Amino acid sequence: MKMDFAGYLSPVMHEILREAPFGIFQLDRTGELVFANTAFCKLAGESEKKLLGSGWTAIIGVDDGKVLQKGLDRIIRQRKGKLTLEGALNHSKSGRRRCLVDIQLLTYRKSEPIFFMGYVRDISKQHLLVQQLQRSETRQRELSTYLQSMISVIEDIIFELDGNQVFRNVWVRDESLLFMPKNQLLGKSIQQVFGDRAPMFQKPVEEAIRTGKEGVVEYRHMDPAMDRWYRAKAVAVEANDDPKAFRLALIVQDITERVRYLDELKREKEKLEWYNKLYDFSSELGKIAGWEYDVGTGETRGTDQLYLIVDRAPEPVSDEESAYAFLDMPERDTLEKHIKQAVKARKPYDIKMPISTAIGKKKWVRVIGIPIVEEGRVTKIRGILMDITEQVAQRNAVESIQQELARSNQLLDFSQQISNTGGWELDLATGQAFWTKQVYALYGVPEDFDVSNPEKYLSFFSAEDQRLIRDSMQDCRDHRLPYVLEVQANIGNQKKWLRVSGVPVVEGERVIAMRGAVMDITPEKQAAMNLVQAKELAEQAAKAKADFLSVMSHEIRTPLNGIIGTANLLRLRHTEQQHEIVENLMFSADHLLRLINDILDLSKMERNKVELALTTLDLPGLVRNIRNQFLSLAEAKGIRLVSLMDQEIPARLIGDPVRLGQILNNLVSNAIKYTDTGKVTIAVQVVEQLENRVYLHFSVKDTGMGIPKELQEKIFDDFQQGYQQDDQQPRSGTGLGLAITRHLIELHQSKIFVDSTVGKGSEFSFELVFDRAEKEEPIELSLPVQNLSEYESKLGSIRLLLVEDNKVNVMVTREQLTYFGVQVDCAMNGHEAMELLKANTYDVALVDLHMPGMDGYELSTKLLKQYPAVKIVIFTADIMGDVRFRFAQIGIYDMLNKPFVPEELLGMLLKVANKKGMRS
Ligand code: ADP
Repeated sequence: MKMDFAGYLSPVMHEILREAPFGIFQLDRTGELVFANTAFCKLAGESEKKLLGSGWTAIIGVDDGKVLQKGLDRIIRQRKGKLTLEGALNHSKSGRRRCLVDIQLLTYRKSEPIFFMGYVRDISKQHLLVQQLQRSETRQRELSTYLQSMISVIEDIIFELDGNQVFRNVWVRDESLLFMPKNQLLGKSIQQVFGDRAPMFQKPVEEAIRTGKEGVVEYRHMDPAMDRWYRAKAVAVEANDDPKAFRLALIVQDITERVRYLDELKREKEKLEWYNKLYDFSSELGKIAGWEYDVGTGETRGTDQLYLIVDRAPEPVSDEESAYAFLDMPERDTLEKHIKQAVKARKPYDIKMPISTAIGKKKWVRVIGIPIVEEGRVTKIRGILMDITEQVAQRNAVESIQQELARSNQLLDFSQQISNTGGWELDLATGQAFWTKQVYALYGVPEDFDVSNPEKYLSFFSAEDQRLIRDSMQDCRDHRLPYVLEVQANIGNQKKWLRVSGVPVVEGERVIAMRGAVMDITPEKQAAMNLVQAKELAEQAAKAKADFLSVMSHEIRTPLNGIIGTANLLRLRHTEQQHEIVENLMFSADHLLRLINDILDLSKMERNKVELALTTLDLPGLVRNIRNQFLSLAEAKGIRLVSLMDQEIPARLIGDPVRLGQILNNLVSNAIKYTDTGKVTIAVQVVEQLENRVYLHFSVKDTGMGIPKELQEKIFDDFQQGYQQDDQQPRSGTGLGLAITRHLIELHQSKIFVDSTVGKGSEFSFELVFDRAEKEEPIELSLPVQNLSEYESKLGSIRLLLVEDNKVNVMVTREQLTYFGVQVDCAMNGHEAMELLKANTYDVALVDLHMPGMDGYELSTKLLKQYPAVKIVIFTADIMGDVRFRFAQIGIYDMLNKPFVPEELLGMLLKVANKKGMRS
């Protein structure tokens, strides 16, 4: 039976113990608890009942328990003593509490049972404080070591320099950091210490001296193997005019960590960007929603995302109508079909479809549904719904771009095909080349042909073309010169003409590539060559025609001379009845002659064989002559022929009288020809007088039938005539007159104009410019002769040598000359003429140009030399100015047209007679 010590105490005392403010307990000799006061129970967090006996050991740790037991045993053995220990009590609720326990023996008599009396104090708070203190002490220690180490790692060096950049003092934690022992350094200048690298430090120092502000330089460790960075900062400490007294500090700091930190910062930034991307990605995830459809109840629930995607309040829907509200009819059918299939055939589905959300937004979604089977049947469909609007939009954009690309590719392809053109590109950096399909086709090579090897495709060309292509490509690359070449390629056994071109592709300052085209121009080239051939042929034909005409005309002219000459002779002697026949003959022969002369003239002009023969020109005299020439014709038709000459026209000009005469002749002849009543007016007016030139306006105006507007251009073409449909009268013409006139006026660098009204008349006009003749020398004119019969047999004093090979001409000319009484000897060629000249003295030699053996030119030259007294008169069918000019230059006396006009022949003879003073 257990007894507690309360039995020894008065009940009052017992009560006091029980309510004491600290824990009191009583143990028996076995260590079992027999009493615990309220404070103790509170400390233990248990009731006294639970603690009594061995119950209390549960609240102390095993180790503490052992120490306690030992202590108690010792006290029992010694029968005295006291036990103090510090331990922990396990409070049932608030955990361990630190306690200080004092235990002592409480026995009064030996016979009495042993009791221990203990009291307990909660020292948890104190303990905590001590612990905190201890911890802060450790921290303090740690900190100080840390600071110590911090201080020891700082690598600052502080130099003191004067204004001459000489080191005066240095402070450094570790002298080995200096570049040389401290005592050697002092008194040296920056230059002496750093040598080559001195300027780097001198710069901030000089800046600090100059401006008084900090000069800073950052640099890497001088040993390239050391990855350390430093900053040197120069600060003026004490300015002074005397450099020796000037003081500045140069502080060198190791900034490696800072540089590294900056690197770190950069890396962090990159990381942040990566996280941002990650965030974007996760927001993509936000576009994926999960859902579940209950087949039994028809209810659909989804994750928050589902409602976000369809823009609806997050509540499950159970009626089908609202579940499908965001689907259009065809999509709704599709989805229903898939759901049915999933339920019936347990088939999962994965479909894409457009939806309109609750607020009417159009979106694209992908729906994946998987049937869930429970107890043998599909109870639910579970799946995900993804908002793929952006992907669809992107894909659509990509697709439309791709379509466009395909279209333009097709277009390019097509256009290259129809134009037989291919494109190429050469990347200059990689040497990679690209050809379009057509280039392969043009060169007739398969599409695996090695295009990047220039030698391979250059081999299609001749060595010369290869060089041309290479040089052009070189220039394109080096000087940015684009090129277009036409080269011939040997393709198979075929020759093709290709036009190859290239342009530089410039990026920034460099030509990075070349691009160009290859075009098959064989057909074009062929056509051009055919054209050239055709043109040559046509020219040859034209020349042949002209040559033929010219030869024919010459050939015709000779017999014609005979006819005309004979007719002229007949004119002199014929019967009354024969008169009309002779006149008709004359008229026909004249017409034929004019036609032939015109043809010859025109063909020469068309071959640009005609030049103006400029000489002194008496324009008023020329116009007067022309008027005289046509006067009788005009009178015969009953029309007036008027000439109006501006008084200001200089008497002597430089011009070609023959050509100008031809122009006016043609116009006046036409005017008279196409006019039946009224008058024809030749007018020349000064437009402008300059010091040494004059601009003249020529006009030939008639009151004739006129020319319809639509023909006014055409009449200047060759062989254009006879448009006078309503013209009853036949008018002889060649249709060449105006063509020749136009050519002649163009030869004068001018143009002819026509102004005409049908039924009223026509006016042909043009302007010419003439130089004034320097000396107004008189021009020897043949005397106008009116009546030939007056001179019959009157010129007997003239002895003439006729050199002519054509018998008919000889006969005709001799007859005509004899009619005038001239003594005539005839030579058939140059040699005969020379013989006759030796034997006789002649006044005149009438020389034909075209003769076999020695021709007219040669003979004239000889005559001029050997018989200068003989007057040479050239007998020529060639009315061209250049022939006349040439003879005029060598000094012949005169020229006669062939066939000759008897009046002209007489005029020439009279001139000779006059000179001789033989006026008959
Ligand atoms: P043709 O020898 O026929 O006169 P031309 O070349 O001189 O050849 O003239 C061409 C045509 O121009 C003539 O046939 C005529 O129809 C027309 N023509 C020329 N001059 C005149 C004019 N003064 N009045 C009316 N028609 C003219």
